[in-house]
Amino acid sequence: MSEKEGGTWLSRLRARWRARQPEVTERGIDRHTSVLIPEEKLSEGKRRAYQERFLREVIARSYKAGTPLRAAMQEARIGVDQIRTLEDLTKLPVTTKTDLAEAQKKNPPFGGYCTEPPANLLRIHRSPGPIFDPVGRVSDYWRWKTALYSAGFRPGDIVMNTFAYHLTPAGHMFEEGLSELGATVIPTGVGNTETQAEIIRDLGVTGYLGTPSFLMAILKKAEQMGINVKEDTRLEVAVLLAEMLPQSMRQRFTDEYNIVGMQAYGTADLGCIAYECPEVNGMHIHPDVIVEILDPQTRKPVSDGEPGEVVVTTNNKIYPLVRFGTGDLSSLAQYDCPCGRTSRRLTRIMGRVDQITKVKGMFVHPSQVQTVISKHPEILRGRLVVARPHDQDVMTLEIELKPGSQVPAVEETLREVVKLRGAVKILQPGTLPENHRVIEDIRKWD
Ligand SMILES: [Zn+2]
Repeated sequence: MSEKEGGTWLSRLRARWRARQPEVTERGIDRHTSVLIPEEKLSEGKRRAYQERFLREVIARSYKAGTPLRAAMQEARIGVDQIRTLEDLTKLPVTTKTDLAEAQKKNPPFGGYCTEPPANLLRIHRSPGPIFDPVGRVSDYWRWKTALYSAGFRPGDIVMNTFAYHLTPAGHMFEEGLSELGATVIPTGVGNTETQAEIIRDLGVTGYLGTPSFLMAILKKAEQMGINVKEDTRLEVAVLLAEMLPQSMRQRFTDEYNIVGMQAYGTADLGCIAYECPEVNGMHIHPDVIVEILDPQTRKPVSDGEPGEVVVTTNNKIYPLVRFGTGDLSSLAQYDCPCGRTSRRLTRIMGRVDQITKVKGMFVHPSQVQTVISKHPEILRGRLVVARPHDQDVMTLEIELKPGSQVPAVEETLREVVKLRGAVKILQPGTLPENHRVIEDIRKWD
C-alpha cells in the first residue's frame, strides 16, 4: 500500500470511529499521531551510537557468560574489543534456530545462551522443537509495548489476546506488552469462535490481538450469531501477527467491520523485531533491534532494497542472541517515513528462506510467483517451471486461464516482479496436478 493510500484509509476510518464514539474522541484518544519512546525518533547517527553501545554490552556479556558465541569468537581469534561497530557484526557467525535447538539438546535447558541461572528467571517457555526460551525479570522484556502502541493500542483499551498461553511464548509475550501499555487484557486463546464473539460484544472489547485468519473467523461467526460488528461492538483496532495479511483481507476488515488491522513482526526466540506505523508502508525496526539483510546463500549483506534473510541481534543481555537467522525473507525500505519514527523499515515478510530458488543468480520466491498470478484475474492457476537446457536457466510460467478469457500480458508482469525474463505457456484447464508446487525446479546439476 502506498503512503497516500495509507493516509486516506486511516483518515476514513478515524472519521467513522469519531461518528460512532464521540465520547472516545472527547477523552482525547488519538491512536495515530504520537510515538511512545524517544529512541524511535533518533537521528541516524544517534541511533547508530545507541545500537553500537548496546551491541558492545551484549557481546561483553555473552563472552563473560561463556555462551556459544565465546567459543566461536575464540576459534576465529576475535576479541571482544574487535566488535565495536554495526559493520563488525559481519565478523561473527550467524546462529540458526537449528543451531539453537542442537545446542539446547547438548546443554539443556538453554544451550549456554542464557546468562542468568534458571532460578533468576520470571518464566521459561517451551516451544515445539523443542526450544526453551528464558524470560528475565525485566520490564518489556520482549519489546512488544512499543510495537503495540505504534499499531494503535492505547491505555484504556480492552484487548482480547487470542494467542495461546501454554507451550508457546506468544500469549505471555503479548500479555506483557499490553499490560505495560496500560491496556486491559482478556486472555481468550484460540478456538471457541462463538465465545470469542460474545466476549467482543459483552465486554466492550476495543482491540484484537492474534492472526488475521482467526479474526476473520470470529467476525464471520459473530455475523451468523446476529451480531452486527459495526453497530453492536466497540472493536476498532487489531494487531495481526504470525501470518501473511493479504491486502484484500485488510480491506475487508476496514470496509465491512470498521476495524483497522495493523501488522507487526517478531519471533518466539527474539520477541518483537518490527511494526507498522499509521503510514502503513513497511514495518519500523525496533530501536533495540539490529537487523541485517543477508544473502541466504553467501550470508553477505545484500544491497539496499534487495531481498534477503532477516538476521537479528537484540538488546537482550539475559538471552543474547547475536546474528540470529530468522529464516524469514524481507528487504529494507529505502525512504523516510512521515510518521516521525526514524528507524529503517522492513518491507513485508516475503516468505521463508528455505522456499527460495535461485534462477540466473537471482532469488525467486513462491510469493513473487503468486503476486504475478494475482495481478491477472484471468489466470485460474499457474506455476513457474525452472529448467536448465544447455547449461542455461530457463523460466516458464505455466498458466491455466478461466474459460473465455483473453491471454493476459503476464510476461511483462513476470519481468516486473521477478526481475527476470521468462516464457509463458498456456495450458488447458485441469492440466496442472492438484497441489502442484508454485515453483517447480526441474534443473539437473550433474
Ligand atoms: Zn512510520
